[in-house]
Amino acid sequence: MNPDFMTETRREVFGNIAPWMQWVFFALMAASLGVLVWQVFRHFQQWRRGERGGFERSPRVWLERLIVYALAQKRVHKKSLGALLHGLLFSGFVVLTIGTTLLGIAHDGPYDFHHGWYYLFYELTMDVFGVAFIIGCLLAMYRRGFRRKPSLGHNWRDWFLLGVLLSLGITGFAVEALRMHYTQVTPWVAHWSTVGWLIDSTFLQGLSIGTAKTMHLMTWWLHTILVAGFFVTIPVDRFLHVITGPLNIATRPERPMGTLVPLTMEEVEKTGRTGVHDLNNFNQQQLLSLDACMECGRCEDACPAFASGKPLSPKKVVTDLRHLMSLGGGNVHDTIKDETLWACTMCQACVQECPVLIGHVDLISDMRRDLIGEGKLSGPPAKTLQQIGNQANPYGRPNSDRLAWAEGLDVPTAESNPDFEYLLWVGCAAAFDPRAQKVARATVQLLKEAGVNFAVLGKEETCTGDPARRIGDEFLFQERAQTNVETLNNHKVKKIVTPCPHCHNTLKNEYPQFGGQYEVQHHSSLLAELIGDGRLKEGSANDDPITLHDPCYLARVNNETEATRRVIGAPNDSNYREMPRHGKKTFCCGAGGGRMWFEEPPEQRVSNLRAQEAIATGAKTVATGCPFCLNMMTDGMASAQGGSEVKVLDIAEILLARSDANAKAGTREGAE
Ligand code: SF4
Ligand code: SF4
Repeated sequence: MNPDFMTETRREVFGNIAPWMQWVFFALMAASLGVLVWQVFRHFQQWRRGERGGFERSPRVWLERLIVYALAQKRVHKKSLGALLHGLLFSGFVVLTIGTTLLGIAHDGPYDFHHGWYYLFYELTMDVFGVAFIIGCLLAMYRRGFRRKPSLGHNWRDWFLLGVLLSLGITGFAVEALRMHYTQVTPWVAHWSTVGWLIDSTFLQGLSIGTAKTMHLMTWWLHTILVAGFFVTIPVDRFLHVITGPLNIATRPERPMGTLVPLTMEEVEKTGRTGVHDLNNFNQQQLLSLDACMECGRCEDACPAFASGKPLSPKKVVTDLRHLMSLGGGNVHDTIKDETLWACTMCQACVQECPVLIGHVDLISDMRRDLIGEGKLSGPPAKTLQQIGNQANPYGRPNSDRLAWAEGLDVPTAESNPDFEYLLWVGCAAAFDPRAQKVARATVQLLKEAGVNFAVLGKEETCTGDPARRIGDEFLFQERAQTNVETLNNHKVKKIVTPCPHCHNTLKNEYPQFGGQYEVQHHSSLLAELIGDGRLKEGSANDDPITLHDPCYLARVNNETEATRRVIGAPNDSNYREMPRHGKKTFCCGAGGGRMWFEEPPEQRVSNLRAQEAIATGAKTVATGCPFCLNMMTDGMASAQGGSEVKVLDIAEILLARSDANAKAGTREGAE
């Protein structure tokens, strides 16, 4: 090898470009970058019109999120064409941008490191990722042309952007090949610039040096103009997300999914409103988040309200608000209709899917709060709120009836058994709804069977306020939360177990906002522990196929997907069948977000879709772990074809019915 290899193996930069052209080049780049910065600054000014703050402040969180969601693109990973092409485009874009920047630094900076082995590997890397970038563009065009996923959205700007990106990739390789041709690169070195060498050796043989130089100059200018045009158009198409996406990913406030932000009376007195009425009532971080949307449609694909034909698409909520922001703001209710806001089940599927971490539920909740403040809710859900206010439960029953479900079971109360280990938080559904009462009874029987030291609050328990908070009546929620926290703290409660995922979420994630810190378990989790400790027997499964519907606020929001399966013996049951949408990717039953209390036409019921999905597994039993899912799925089965043969049961009912002890005693209630 030539001893001067390390210094001689390099490429020329601007070799074919006259000095005056280089000045034009730098002026063009500076101007286009200037326009880019100016346009981003205009977006920045739009965000600044919002209420101050809302940003995550921890640099550790920023860094972690940027690594996981921006760099590793955790939310984009899927076995799909969209994920593949995005991966190719993203990696190609990032590597080509870094590579071009390094070349600029080496050429114009104090250290010239662009030679020798570094140069060779640089060339190979740039070629590999350049090819990835071009393939990504072609796949994106193919998807837009032949696999027109409706939620993706289609307009001429997307084709224009893809055309510019593809042209950038192709002209980049053409410039490389022509430069290699007129500089007569030695073959050994040329092979490292593989694509350029292939183009040169296949298409450019016989071309004179002079012609190659002229063609190089023309192609170089075309490439330069495309780069400048690309910079200028970034802020006006969906490519803006390369800037705003990472910004939103880093700065979205960190809090458990399913936790809403409390509103204070001081804020209401200061602003004269209870929620977001004008676009600029959103905080600055929320306004930034609107600009982060890349219109990928993942949120819409996951949305049960959209799937069931309701007038809600989380993507459209975001893009409509963004459009309003571009107009300088205005009344959000003129843009987002009331029925759109009420259609949300707050299942958090959209939030879970969004690759740039947009908080759709916070946006919707803030606008709902304003509707409540303006008295825009009527009918059954309004009555529900009234009943929570007057009777402390959404069913409108006297709270003194709260222990009616426990008749004959000799259930210990916090008064009769003050040294309890677990407080069994029954929840309003299990206390008052005849079907859900059976779940409370089954749970109590199992806890007794396992010898758990527990108690219930009885008449002292009131609604957690969850339906009020989701519907948008924040102060009604806070009234319930403060009363319940006081009761729980008076009884020195440390551990809570509940059969309701909504109570579980509120007690665990939202009561700390009001001074209530408890160790909260869903009954599936405690029952699974008791089975693991040998304190409860699983019993043998029957021969009928069974499936499980994961409640959103248990699986998706609180990450509990194994205990429910463990309780019904799914891991060892050859008859157990999983629905396509299961675990954290479950599909809502339609009851969340206060929708349990809304009337809706039969053809728009989410529960019908979910029931059909369950029936398609061939299961004869659908297990679940939520009194509201139990109700909705039962309704769904009643109207779905083949649903009349399918039983819907809570996991506690199934465990109780299967337990050996139950069979022996022959006196306990089984599940019906
Ligand atoms: S929370 Fe659920 S229902 Fe509401 S917009 Fe998101 S996906 Fe749709
Ligand atoms: S909000 Fe998020 S998931 Fe929905 S279209 Fe925009 S980027 Fe995609």
